[in-house]
Amino acid sequence: MRFALFKSANVTNSDGKMMYSDRESRCNMITVDFSDFKSLYGNATLENLVTPWQVDITDKPPALRAPNVSNVPLKWAHDALTGEPRYIHDRKVVDRLCSCICPACQLSLTPILAGQLLRRDPTAHFRHPPGSQKDDCTIVAARVAATHLLLEYGFIDLPRRVISRTATGFSGQGYEIWVEEPAERRMVRSALLHDHVTAVLTLDNGRKLLADLTGRRDLTSAFDDQALVTISLSDPELAMLSPEEIRSRLRILPDIRWCSHWNDRALATKADAESSQAARDALDDWSADDEADFRSRLTPGIDAEIARNLRRETLLHREVKAILEREKRITTPSLEVVVTRDPPEELEMSWEEDTLRMDWCTAPKILTLRDVQLETRLGRIVPDVIAHLDGPHVDADCHIEMWVSGSFDEGIEDSYAMTWPPTLLVEVTVTHGIDSEKLQRIRELNLATLEIDLSTLGGRVTLEGLRDLVVHQTIGKRWVHHPEFAIQQQRLNAEIDEHPVTRRNQERLVELKRQRWLTMPVAHWADRYLEALAGFHDANAIIKRRQRQHQGDGPKPKLLGRDSDAWALITSETEALSAHGLPGAAHSSMVQEAGLVARILSIQRNTGVGYDLSSGYQVLNAIMLSGKGNKQWDTLYAIAVKAYDLESHFTSDQTLRYKAWRKTLIEKVDANDEAYMRPATFDVVLSALFPEMAERISKGYGRLPDRG
Ligand SMILES: [Zn+2]
Repeated sequence: MRFALFKSANVTNSDGKMMYSDRESRCNMITVDFSDFKSLYGNATLENLVTPWQVDITDKPPALRAPNVSNVPLKWAHDALTGEPRYIHDRKVVDRLCSCICPACQLSLTPILAGQLLRRDPTAHFRHPPGSQKDDCTIVAARVAATHLLLEYGFIDLPRRVISRTATGFSGQGYEIWVEEPAERRMVRSALLHDHVTAVLTLDNGRKLLADLTGRRDLTSAFDDQALVTISLSDPELAMLSPEEIRSRLRILPDIRWCSHWNDRALATKADAESSQAARDALDDWSADDEADFRSRLTPGIDAEIARNLRRETLLHREVKAILEREKRITTPSLEVVVTRDPPEELEMSWEEDTLRMDWCTAPKILTLRDVQLETRLGRIVPDVIAHLDGPHVDADCHIEMWVSGSFDEGIEDSYAMTWPPTLLVEVTVTHGIDSEKLQRIRELNLATLEIDLSTLGGRVTLEGLRDLVVHQTIGKRWVHHPEFAIQQQRLNAEIDEHPVTRRNQERLVELKRQRWLTMPVAHWADRYLEALAGFHDANAIIKRRQRQHQGDGPKPKLLGRDSDAWALITSETEALSAHGLPGAAHSSMVQEAGLVARILSIQRNTGVGYDLSSGYQVLNAIMLSGKGNKQWDTLYAIAVKAYDLESHFTSDQTLRYKAWRKTLIEKVDANDEAYMRPATFDVVLSALFPEMAERISKGYGRLPDRG
C-alpha cells in the first residue's frame, strides 16, 4: 500500500515529527520521523522539498475499521429515577445504587461490568433485554450525555455567521458580497434533548438555539428567524467515549456549522444592498427609477438578452455623456491616412516592382468642448453623444512618412495645418460595433466620429476608470470617420503621382502600351473613346434621375467619379489617341458633362448623351440658350448639325428658331466677335473623332487666328 503525501496535507512537525492522518479510513495514522530533518536538509522547509512524498506503509491494514453501530457497546444510560445520564463506570452504576433505562427506547438496562464473565464482549456496557436493542440506542444515549455535558461545560462557542449574496450586472458579471456576524461565546442556561437528533439550548441572552447533533443538516435558505447549528455528534465512536473525552470534543467543537441564524434576514438584506451597490459602482446596474424609466421606453416583447445589453449601453452612454459634460475635454487618438500605390499590373513581370506608401498622421489631441448632447433614441440605433468643439482647433502638428517597398524612405514635417470640424460625434460601443447602415449614414453626414469601444473593459469598469479612459486615454478609441480622411487621401495620391517611382512606371507603361496602340488605326481608338465617354455620361444621367426619385432613409445613389472604372476606360482610350498624335481628348472641355464631345454626340445620335433628354434638338436648344460666356464652341455645333443633318428631324418651328440662332452666329463671326470664335485646340482631335465634320472644320471658319 502506498500513500502519496502532499504539501497540502495536515502536517505538524514542531517536534521534528510529522503526522499524517487519513480521515477517510479514520484509523490509518502514520508517523514519519523527521528528527534528522535538519541535519539532512539544512534549513530547507517542507514546502521547498520535492513533492509528493511517498510513504510506504509497512503495517498490516488497519485493524480498526469504522465501527458498526450494532457492535458498539452501550456505555450511556438514563438514571430511571432522576433522568440524569449515567456512564457505565459511574460510581452509582458500579455500586448498583441506581437503576438505569435506555434513553432511546426506554427499556430497562442491566450494567455488565469488567471482571464479570462474558467472553464474547469483555468491555463494560449496559445490556438491553435480550433481542430488543435497536441500532441507534447507543448513539442516542451518547448524545444525551453530550447535551448534558454541554450544559455542565457552561458555554458554547458559536462560529461567525457568513452570508453571501450575488447581484448580476447587465453584463452578466456577478458581484458577490459577504457579510458576517462575528463569532461569539455564549453561556448555556439549559440544554434539553428535543428528540433523538436535536437539542434545544437556552442561552444567557434568553435566545433559544436549536442544535442538530447529526452534523449533517444542510443550510436552510428560508428565513424563519430561528437559529440552528449542526454539531457533528453522529460518530458511532462517540458512544464509546468517556465523559472526559466527550468534554474535550465539545470544547474544540468540531464542525459546528450554522444552518440558520437569528439575523439571517438582516444579513441578507445588507448583502443584497451591498452587492447591487457594487454592480452600480461598476456601471453594471442602475437604480429602480432608472429601470422604470427604461422600461417605459422599451419596445414591448424585446428579447431579454437584447434588453440587458441595451440597459448597459444606455447607462454607459449616459455616463460618457455626463463625463464629457463635466470635464469638457476628450483625448482623441491620432488621425492617420495611409495611401499605397502598387506598380501597374502590366509592369508586374518587370524588374521594378516598387510599392509606394504614404502615411499621414497627427499627434493625439485633447479637444475642448463646449456643448454635449445625448441622443436618446432607443431601438436598433445606438444613441450617440454629439459634442461641439470649444472654438477653432487647428492641428499643425502633422507628419508624413514615405515608404518604398516596405522600407522607410523619408519623413516629412508637414506644413499643412488642419482645421478641425466644429462637431464631434462620439459613438460608445459595448457589445456591437457600428453597423454598415450607421457607418454609411455617418459618412454621408461627413462628421468627425470617434468610437469608444468599451467591450475591451469586459464587465468591470469603475466610474473613475471610465472617466480616465474618456478624458485621458486613447486606448479603445478609433476614428470611424473624419472629413480630413478624403482630403488627405487626395493630397497623398497627388504626392504619389509626382513621385519619381510613379513617373518612371508611367513612362514605362506608356512605352509598353504604345506598341499596342499603334498597331490599331486611329478610327478604332476614336470609336472606343466615344463609346467610353457616352457610357460614363449616360450612366450618370440615369443615376441623377434615381437621385431625384430617391425616398426613404437608405443611402442615395452616388454619381460615378474620376475614380470609377468607367472613367479609367476613357483615360486609357485618351492615351491611345495621344500616341497617335492626337492630344487634347482628355481636356475637361472635351470630356466634362455637357462638354464638347457629349454635345456633338447628342447631335450626331439625335438623342441626349449625358443629358436626360430624348432628342438632338432638345440638347441643341440647351446649347442655344447658353449664356454669352459659353459661345466659343457654337461654330462646332453648327458644323455638327450640318454634318449629321439634324435639321431633317426638326419641326418647322424648331427650324425657324435654329435658323435665327445660326444667323446671329454668322453675324458675330463675320464681325470677328471673339466670344463666338473658337481656339484651334481641339480641331484636329475632333476631326478624327467625327470624320464627317473634318472637312468643314478644316476650312477654319469661326476659328481664332493662330497667334503662335
Ligand atoms: Zn434502547
